[in-house]
Amino acid sequence: MGNSAAIELQSTLRCPACGAEKTETMPVNACQWFYECEHCHTLLKPLPGDCCVFCSYGTVACPPVQEVALTGKKSCCCPSS
Ligand SMILES: [Zn+2]
Repeated sequence: MGNSAAIELQSTLRCPACGAEKTETMPVNACQWFYECEHCHTLLKPLPGDCCVFCSYGTVACPPVQEVALTGKKSCCCPSS
């Protein structure tokens, strides 16, 4: 266990095209912009205003976004709005 136990690293992505769900481990230091659905091979991209596919389609927001929520510290790779 690390010292960032409050950060959830697994998120279940739900494909908006076919509804398939897949649990993925998120990269901690980068946002994932594209994700290809294993089931229908649709290439998912973040919705407007979201930094990564996990924020748009996952059950859990990406680690940088979680860290901001937890600590208030801006550490995301995403552009600030
Ligand atoms: Zn799909």
